[in-house]
Amino acid sequence: MSTLPSLTDLPLDAFEPLAEELGEKRFAGKNLARWVFERRARDFLAMSDLSKRFRAALAERHVVRRTAIAADRSDPGGTRAFVLRLADGKTIETVLIPEEARRTVCVSTQVGCPVACVFCASGLDGLIRNLTAGEIIEQVMIVQDALPEGERVSNVVVMGIGEPTMNLTALTQALATWNDPRGLGIGARRITISTVGWPARIDRLTALHKEFGLAISLHAPRQELRERLIPNGGQVPLADLLAAAKRWFAQTGRRVTFEYVLIDGQNASLREAAELAALLAGFPCHVNLIPVNPVEGLPYRRPAPDVIEQFKLTLLRAGIDATVRHPRGDGIAAACGQLRLRVEAEQGAGELAPPAPLAPPASRPTTRPA
Ligand code: SF4
Repeated sequence: MSTLPSLTDLPLDAFEPLAEELGEKRFAGKNLARWVFERRARDFLAMSDLSKRFRAALAERHVVRRTAIAADRSDPGGTRAFVLRLADGKTIETVLIPEEARRTVCVSTQVGCPVACVFCASGLDGLIRNLTAGEIIEQVMIVQDALPEGERVSNVVVMGIGEPTMNLTALTQALATWNDPRGLGIGARRITISTVGWPARIDRLTALHKEFGLAISLHAPRQELRERLIPNGGQVPLADLLAAAKRWFAQTGRRVTFEYVLIDGQNASLREAAELAALLAGFPCHVNLIPVNPVEGLPYRRPAPDVIEQFKLTLLRAGIDATVRHPRGDGIAAACGQLRLRVEAEQGAGELAPPAPLAPPASRPTTRPA
């Protein structure tokens, strides 16, 4: 396997200087970025409008990497989970969620996760490493390649394995490449970042001055309960977290979503519902209630349907917008990190599976709006 750096890891602003450095006009760099991100070419041969000399010089210094698909499973509802095997043999998960006309990709930002939420399969082994910017960006391109002709990735949610704001430099580059018309051209309002929430890191995202969506994983309305459910992140004072969320709203004008995983006997009683309503009173936000996905070996279970309903009604009666997100992909273990663990058990970690066959670039749809 080549050890040359991949062009997918390059920031968009680096393509034109690269062309100049290799003796080409700047526009050749612009064309190169188009081939890499918009047209998703896999090798330099396919880049037919670049000079042979430029392509030969590029091939000496770079590759166009595409992370391999180790497993690809679908459930009857259309949710499709991909286990991707990185160049060093580590695995991550990427999930396609089709919903009406939307094609949403849920991407990972780390191998493993340092936050260790007690109910999550991905936190079981802690953090193994950060993904590079290219490894994050490519997940959207891989899903786009796997879609039928005429369908395109419309939304991206950074909610897969890992805590995105703990890999902020790579995340910021990925957001720019997905959003920029020179990259994948996906609108900022169609990209959502989910974080457990550290005020300084939320402020860094606020400072991007982009209308991305922000989702904060709250999971508890009181400090001690949140610290218990989120061992490596729940310590941030709730008042500071909410203050950062309000700064985000003031800058972007976008409502913050609070994610709240409902766990039977832990955080799903009417007491917690009333406390959550009091905590969020007056703040324009949305609460996404997510019945926990059971994980093999962990004792956490979903509350009964009427308990979930009462929790939601308590919030609605207090004037807080709340919905229940019904779990998808149970049959393929699409909940954060579970399919990856299953595939590692079946295939072993570290063996490289061959990539799935793909259509030639010309017949593949781009990610751009029609
Ligand atoms: S739920 Fe998210 S933040 Fe928590 S351990 Fe799992 S991947 Fe990490």
